[in-house]
Amino acid sequence: MNTPAATRFRQFASDNYAGICPEAWEATERANYGHSPGYGDDAWTAKAADLLRDLFEVDCEVFFVFNGTAANSLSLASLCQSYHSIVCHELAHVETDECGAPEFFSNGSKILLVPGEEGRIPASGVARVVQKRSDIHYPKPRVLSITQATELGTVYSVNHLQELWEVARRFDLRVHMDGARFANAAAALDVAPKEITWKVGVDVLCFGGTKNGMAIGEAVVFFKRELAHEFAYRCKQSGQLASKMRFLAAPWVGMLESGAWLRNARHANECAAKLEAKLADIPGIRFLSRRQANSVFIDLPPHVLVALRGRGWKFYTFIGDSGARFMCSWDTTDADLDAFAQDLREVFALPPDTAAVAAASHGPRPR
Ligand SMILES: *Cc1c(COP(=O)(O)O)cnc(C)c1O
Repeated sequence: MNTPAATRFRQFASDNYAGICPEAWEATERANYGHSPGYGDDAWTAKAADLLRDLFEVDCEVFFVFNGTAANSLSLASLCQSYHSIVCHELAHVETDECGAPEFFSNGSKILLVPGEEGRIPASGVARVVQKRSDIHYPKPRVLSITQATELGTVYSVNHLQELWEVARRFDLRVHMDGARFANAAAALDVAPKEITWKVGVDVLCFGGTKNGMAIGEAVVFFKRELAHEFAYRCKQSGQLASKMRFLAAPWVGMLESGAWLRNARHANECAAKLEAKLADIPGIRFLSRRQANSVFIDLPPHVLVALRGRGWKFYTFIGDSGARFMCSWDTTDADLDAFAQDLREVFALPPDTAAVAAASHGPRPR
């Protein structure tokens, strides 16, 4: 077999570097039997939607799309008119990583940004942005978009979500939740999914499957069913209606029936906690935000970034110049954590001089 080398060892760049977990794989295999109707008129899609209704303990409307950008931008579009605006954190994926898709699919709804500690929006920040103006020249705030877990690996507590709901009600905002890592948040908070969604005013949740161990797919869950009006047309028009829908749906059945959705998230969170603990005693190390979900953010000087990359480690640095993110997945092992911690410890001890760094960057190790 001709296997590309990159697949033989695990990275900490993103949870989307990981493969497909056995439960999702097995369900896909089971769905690959005989013929089934296309476009979602099949038993797997019906079953997956029912399992999501069971999970959230409510009669919600469910759609399956290919990715998070589509889930977010199409659901936001269904909450807005073109003259409306969407209030979110300044680091929100919908703002920074979707290439303007929310604005595009909503025909121009503007995104209004709120700063906030550790990736979270404070209720006061929402009020400030909404109350800044009330005249006809300002794009009318219509949606509050919350990312759970946040882009900085933190989570919103139930109390914080309640405060946000209060402010949303006060200003007649609908509440959208980007839950690309919703499972990690539910695991970190150890609460029933309803406690951090419809019970605290979330109208629509984009529930991520990909980063949790599936190959492809996010579920768009409308808790306020009337907001899903004609959503199927939005999916079709934007190329998000899967012809062989059962292969988007079956992995959800596998993940939900087996409990893997929560097990995987717990595992990834625990690995991140272990990683943080392994690195905590390195002299001079500085963590950038409190770890709560499956990622650890560290402030690393440029020569350390170079040396780590020289040793074959891949990671993102999207926070300032030196903030690096290390993320654990459903399949991270203790050996991966040890190997990475050992390398970081070694390169952290190097003098910030390029020759020493180059010498220590002895190319990717086989792992
Ligand atoms: C990964 C991610 C998404 C989805 O991204 P796609 O690449 O479009 O699937 C959405 N929101 C957040 C916070 C993410 O991390």
